[in-house]
Amino acid sequence: MSVLTAPTTDSAARSVDLGPASALSCRECGQRFALGPVFACAECFGPLEIAYDFPAGDPEGLRKRIEAGPNSIWRYAPLLPVPADVAGKPNLNPGCTPLVRADRLAAELGITGALHVKDDSANPTHSFKDRVVANAVEAARAFGFTTLSCSSTGNLAGAVGAAAARAGLRSCVFIPHDLEQGKVVMAAVYGGEVVGIEGNYDDVNRFCSELIGDPAGEGWGFVNVNLRPYYAEGSKTLAYEICEQLGWQLPDQLVIPIASGSQLTKIDKGLRELIDLGLVEDKPYKIFGAQAEGCSPVSQAFKGGHDVIRPVKPDTIAKSLAIGNPADGPYVLDITRRTGGAVEDVTDEQVVDAIKLLARTEGIFAETAGGVTVGVTRKLIEAGALDPSLTTVVLNTGDGLKTLDAVAPTTGPSAIIRPNLESFREAGLA
Ligand SMILES: *Cc1c(COP(=O)(O)O)cnc(C)c1O
Ligand SMILES: [Zn+2]
Repeated sequence: MSVLTAPTTDSAARSVDLGPASALSCRECGQRFALGPVFACAECFGPLEIAYDFPAGDPEGLRKRIEAGPNSIWRYAPLLPVPADVAGKPNLNPGCTPLVRADRLAAELGITGALHVKDDSANPTHSFKDRVVANAVEAARAFGFTTLSCSSTGNLAGAVGAAAARAGLRSCVFIPHDLEQGKVVMAAVYGGEVVGIEGNYDDVNRFCSELIGDPAGEGWGFVNVNLRPYYAEGSKTLAYEICEQLGWQLPDQLVIPIASGSQLTKIDKGLRELIDLGLVEDKPYKIFGAQAEGCSPVSQAFKGGHDVIRPVKPDTIAKSLAIGNPADGPYVLDITRRTGGAVEDVTDEQVVDAIKLLARTEGIFAETAGGVTVGVTRKLIEAGALDPSLTTVVLNTGDGLKTLDAVAPTTGPSAIIRPNLESFREAGLA
């Protein structure tokens, strides 16, 4: 297929070194375009994703090369749209987070197979967003952007602020004005600009799209808008890591949170790449999507048997997942249906219960998004949709310290006592 030249800025016309990335390819019509800061197909407006020239043939050699690589997502640089020397550049080196074998949680949920929690709160800014931003920063450098920006439900703003600070770029991020304090402080502490928008995430996102088309946004790389194809590839590293940590094997079932649906979509892409490259043995796997009931447009469509996703106005404590009009929603429906998985949602109360359950059984304090995945896992087991005898990986994508308000009202000291033994005995804790 011919490679068309996409409408690009001058800076993008320079030759770019993004490693094995060879072109942008339309997910809908397959048309190819030159690598540049564009995200929509000029032919059909479909989303663009990265096409690669992967090293052919030698899976054993590739596996060895990965295993000898750095202890970060850059061990997978041969499979990402980044230059080969990426690990040597100033960046936050995210990834290689723990895959925790969760036997006590499994027992509580009635799971008899191997249950693992992929704990992405262990990233530099305590959410999975460091993975996607690290990839977007390389694209921003390649295209000569000087300001890094994003529309964010919270975690992305912090990840962009930190990555820009490390890379020596200016940052200016946009968030809904009513986010959790932990997310706002985390976004602002790295010294970039943080703009609260009076509206929800979907309003923020619409505003950013306008800004990109305006002279005021010139030279700005919006990691999840005009750099979205590069950003999105960062989520593949979750698939790579999970399989490598399982001894280069596919899990049977994965439970993944859905905001825009990008992460879920690209984890599936990563798994299929590993199969195609011969790095794992091909076998069926099921992908399950998780939403909060107060923002469950994909779950509603899945359960209703619809192909079209009806946008909603989010109302949930799981603010990091509160995208009412998820861009990758239709692909999530395709993937969950194709793999034999499902999309399910839980109430805010179930989210809080699940956060506490994970903390109590495994010592992992998840943010609300982790409560959503654990809560949905429980619900899917009870419904018989998830097979309790198989290997299951549940994602925790963020840190509970950023969403303290979710658990604070029902979590606190067991007692307040005077500093003497008598007072301690009276409290009945001995
Ligand atoms: C952004 C985010 C997600 C998923 O986002 P997608 O838009 O679906 O890729 C999941 N968990 C947390 C904590 C997030 O911040
Ligand atoms: Zn197209």
